[in-house]
Amino acid sequence: MSGRILYIEDNFDNRILIKRILEAEGYTVIEADDGVTGVDVAKITNPDLILMDINLPDLDGYECTARLRKIDGFAHTPIVALTANALEGDKQKAMIAGCDGYIAKPIDVDELPNQIASHLNNKRVAKTSPPPVKSKPSPVKSSISADRASGPSADNHRNS
Ligand code: MN
Repeated sequence: MSGRILYIEDNFDNRILIKRILEAEGYTVIEADDGVTGVDVAKITNPDLILMDINLPDLDGYECTARLRKIDGFAHTPIVALTANALEGDKQKAMIAGCDGYIAKPIDVDELPNQIASHLNNKRVAKTSPPPVKSKPSPVKSSISADRASGPSADNHRNS
């Protein structure tokens, strides 16, 4: 696998471990050891995926993710939260902040490469897949009114 992964993590041992695992898979790993540095390094290096520790000494991972999502070019970058706080509320906070996924510590070293590849592939599919081909036009015309009633169609990028 190839790709550049930014790992924002204050714990040195975790950085060494994950860097070793991911480099063995063929990825390039870029490191940052706090949130402000992580956001700056992301802007400079434009990684393919960001692994985001949540418990950081300055900005937490939620705030870093929220800041990155407001920057041009980071709307679709996969950001995967990484934290020991494997509580349902933390997962929800990560998703609300703009993370695409959530990996609980301690890391499963056998599973991590699959988790990373999955998020990278999702990004590629989203960016490059052609529009879906309709096999048959629907003969049901009465569905139009149902479609109109199904909810707002505008996207929700309110604070872009
Ligand atoms: Mn930490």
